[in-house]
Amino acid sequence: MARKKTFDCGHTGYGKFCHRCADEERQRREKQSRKEQKKQQRQAWQEHLAAAPVSLDHVPPKTARKVLETIEKLRRGQATYMQLNGKRLITMGQRNIISIPIGWSWRLVCEDTDEGLVFLEVLSHEAYNNKISSGGWDK
Ligand SMILES: [Zn+2]
Repeated sequence: MARKKTFDCGHTGYGKFCHRCADEERQRREKQSRKEQKKQQRQAWQEHLAAAPVSLDHVPPKTARKVLETIEKLRRGQATYMQLNGKRLITMGQRNIISIPIGWSWRLVCEDTDEGLVFLEVLSHEAYNNKISSGGWDK
Protein backbone atom coordinates (compact mmCIF):
# COMPACT_ATOMS: atom_id res chain seq x y z
CA MET A 1 0.00 0.00 0.00
CA ALA A 2 1.31 3.41 -0.99
CA ARG A 3 1.72 5.83 1.82
CA LYS A 4 0.38 9.32 1.81
CA LYS A 5 3.16 11.84 2.01
CA THR A 6 3.55 15.54 2.62
CA PHE A 7 5.03 17.51 -0.25
CA ASP A 8 7.19 20.62 -0.03
CA CYS A 9 4.11 22.79 -0.67
CA GLY A 10 2.50 21.42 2.47
CA HIS A 11 -0.25 19.43 0.74
CA THR A 12 -0.46 15.71 1.33
CA GLY A 13 -1.11 13.05 -1.27
CA TYR A 14 0.26 10.10 -3.20
CA GLY A 15 2.83 9.97 -5.98
CA LYS A 16 5.98 11.80 -6.96
CA PHE A 17 4.51 15.31 -7.01
CA CYS A 18 1.58 17.22 -5.59
CA HIS A 19 -1.38 16.73 -7.93
CA ARG A 20 -3.29 19.51 -6.29
CA CYS A 21 -0.61 22.07 -7.11
CA ALA A 22 -0.16 20.56 -10.58
CA ASP A 23 -3.89 20.98 -11.26
CA GLU A 24 -3.84 24.56 -10.08
CA GLU A 25 -0.86 25.28 -12.30
CA ARG A 26 -2.60 23.70 -15.30
CA GLN A 27 -5.76 25.71 -14.69
CA ARG A 28 -3.73 28.88 -14.33
CA ARG A 29 -2.05 28.20 -17.70
CA GLU A 30 -5.37 27.43 -19.41
CA LYS A 31 -6.85 30.65 -18.09
CA GLN A 32 -3.81 32.55 -19.34
CA SER A 33 -4.08 30.97 -22.77
CA ARG A 34 -7.81 31.77 -23.00
CA LYS A 35 -6.99 35.36 -22.11
CA GLU A 36 -4.30 35.42 -24.78
CA GLN A 37 -6.72 33.98 -27.34
CA LYS A 38 -9.33 36.61 -26.56
CA LYS A 39 -6.73 39.33 -26.90
CA GLN A 40 -5.69 37.99 -30.31
CA GLN A 41 -9.30 37.77 -31.46
CA ARG A 42 -9.86 41.33 -30.35
CA GLN A 43 -6.77 42.48 -32.25
CA ALA A 44 -7.79 40.58 -35.39
CA TRP A 45 -11.23 42.19 -35.18
CA GLN A 46 -9.71 45.66 -34.82
CA GLU A 47 -7.53 45.07 -37.87
CA HIS A 48 -10.55 43.80 -39.77
CA LEU A 49 -12.46 46.97 -38.90
CA ALA A 50 -9.52 49.17 -39.84
CA ALA A 51 -9.29 47.47 -43.25
CA ALA A 52 -12.97 48.07 -44.03
CA PRO A 53 -13.70 50.42 -46.95
CA VAL A 54 -16.05 52.47 -44.77
CA SER A 55 -15.50 53.88 -41.30
CA LEU A 56 -17.13 51.70 -38.65
CA ASP A 57 -15.90 53.55 -35.58
CA HIS A 58 -19.33 54.94 -34.77
CA VAL A 59 -21.14 51.65 -35.39
CA PRO A 60 -22.00 49.03 -32.72
CA PRO A 61 -19.97 45.78 -33.10
CA LYS A 62 -22.97 43.70 -34.14
CA THR A 63 -23.86 46.18 -36.87
CA ALA A 64 -20.21 46.47 -37.94
CA ARG A 65 -20.10 42.69 -38.38
CA LYS A 66 -23.23 42.80 -40.49
CA VAL A 67 -21.81 45.62 -42.63
CA LEU A 68 -18.61 43.67 -43.27
CA GLU A 69 -20.62 40.56 -44.20
CA THR A 70 -22.76 42.61 -46.55
CA ILE A 71 -19.71 44.16 -48.24
CA GLU A 72 -18.14 40.69 -48.63
CA LYS A 73 -21.31 39.29 -50.21
CA LEU A 74 -21.50 42.17 -52.67
CA ARG A 75 -17.80 42.00 -53.55
CA ARG A 76 -17.91 38.25 -54.10
CA GLY A 77 -21.09 38.51 -56.11
CA GLN A 78 -22.94 36.27 -53.67
CA ALA A 79 -25.79 38.75 -53.56
CA THR A 80 -26.94 41.79 -55.49
CA TYR A 81 -27.91 44.98 -53.72
CA MET A 82 -31.51 44.23 -54.70
CA GLN A 83 -31.38 40.86 -52.96
CA LEU A 84 -30.17 42.75 -49.90
CA ASN A 85 -33.18 45.09 -50.16
CA GLY A 86 -31.03 47.93 -51.37
CA LYS A 87 -32.66 50.80 -53.22
CA ARG A 88 -31.45 53.39 -55.66
CA LEU A 89 -32.23 56.99 -54.72
CA ILE A 90 -34.26 57.49 -57.85
CA THR A 91 -36.73 60.00 -56.44
CA MET A 92 -33.71 62.04 -55.30
CA GLY A 93 -32.42 62.01 -58.87
CA GLN A 94 -29.37 60.13 -57.62
CA ARG A 95 -29.91 56.73 -59.15
CA ASN A 96 -26.23 55.85 -58.89
CA ILE A 97 -26.50 56.02 -55.10
CA ILE A 98 -27.71 52.84 -53.43
CA SER A 99 -28.90 52.54 -49.86
CA ILE A 100 -28.84 49.09 -48.27
CA PRO A 101 -30.56 48.50 -44.91
CA ILE A 102 -28.40 46.92 -42.20
CA GLY A 103 -30.64 45.61 -39.46
CA TRP A 104 -33.42 47.91 -38.32
CA SER A 105 -31.68 51.19 -37.89
CA TRP A 106 -28.56 51.37 -40.04
CA ARG A 107 -27.83 51.86 -43.70
CA LEU A 108 -24.88 51.18 -45.92
CA VAL A 109 -24.66 53.74 -48.71
CA CYS A 110 -22.82 52.83 -51.92
CA GLU A 111 -22.20 54.43 -55.24
CA ASP A 112 -22.66 52.42 -58.41
CA THR A 113 -19.68 53.23 -60.62
CA ASP A 114 -18.18 51.79 -63.81
CA GLU A 115 -15.70 49.91 -61.63
CA GLY A 116 -18.46 48.46 -59.47
CA LEU A 117 -19.84 49.44 -56.10
CA VAL A 118 -17.94 51.98 -54.05
CA PHE A 119 -18.86 51.89 -50.39
CA LEU A 120 -19.42 55.42 -49.16
CA GLU A 121 -20.55 55.28 -45.56
CA VAL A 122 -22.60 53.64 -42.85
CA LEU A 123 -25.24 55.79 -41.22
CA SER A 124 -27.82 55.43 -38.52
CA HIS A 125 -31.39 55.79 -39.71
CA GLU A 126 -31.50 59.29 -38.25
CA ALA A 127 -28.25 60.44 -39.85
CA TYR A 128 -29.44 58.93 -43.12
CA ASN A 129 -32.68 60.91 -43.03
CA ASN A 130 -30.77 64.11 -42.24
CA LYS A 131 -28.46 63.50 -45.16
CA ILE A 132 -31.41 62.85 -47.46
CA SER A 133 -33.18 66.05 -46.42
CA SER A 134 -30.01 68.03 -46.95
CA GLY A 135 -29.60 66.87 -50.54
CA GLY A 136 -28.19 63.34 -50.33
CA TRP A 137 -24.92 62.39 -51.98
CA ASP A 138 -25.07 64.53 -55.08
CA LYS A 139 -21.65 65.85 -56.03
ZN1 LIG B 1 0.65 21.14 -3.35
